[in-house]
Amino acid sequence: MTRDEIQLGEVRRLAPRLRPRPDQGEPCTVVCCGHRSEHELSIFISWTALQSLRNHLGSDSEVELAGVLVGDQCHDDQARPFVVVTHSLAAQDYENSSGRFTFTHSTWDLIARQVDQLSSGGRIIGWYHSHPGWGVFLSDRDHFICEHFFSGAFDIAIVVDSQRNQLGLFHRSSLSSGGMRPATACTVFAPSEEGRELPAEGFPDPLRFFAGSSGEAVGGEQ
Ligand SMILES: [Zn+2]
Repeated sequence: MTRDEIQLGEVRRLAPRLRPRPDQGEPCTVVCCGHRSEHELSIFISWTALQSLRNHLGSDSEVELAGVLVGDQCHDDQARPFVVVTHSLAAQDYENSSGRFTFTHSTWDLIARQVDQLSSGGRIIGWYHSHPGWGVFLSDRDHFICEHFFSGAFDIAIVVDSQRNQLGLFHRSSLSSGGMRPATACTVFAPSEEGRELPAEGFPDPLRFFAGSSGEAVGGEQ
């Protein structure tokens, strides 16, 4: 594989900025999943973004689908970094041969325009894709994409097995150099002022949600 085969365009790099964590700022409903270890990045995902990507990846559980994660990379007033995923944008008009997606220039241009049009602002902070029936892990090809196009210290990746209904988060640990590793926790939030409750039905339980903490093989090669 060469870099020319996957053309995602330039990802803008901006330094993390100071802002309150979602669970410390505006009123919101918060659900903590898993148990975060000290060296792990704090990851917050909006309920709507999570539902959006699950709906997208579940729309065809036979082929690999993908998209980008939009939000912000921040630090709190004690310089602790965290990321907030506010939107997930499905990659449209992509090439999908042999069940494997490939981002194209037109796909990337469309995503960039969608990000620019978001009223809430935000930047691309990672990507997501499905492994229909293959389990939750990052393949060699996935690591290639992470290293070449989502190589920021706080960029993240989400992998969903759309047949087994498992989801895994990956980030770069502050204790390890190199590639992304499974995260063991995240916080799902929904702004309370919108009157949105997190429905119990359809919400993945922590063990199923984080395939990595249920003892299943994640993060390796298959
Ligand atoms: Zn993959």
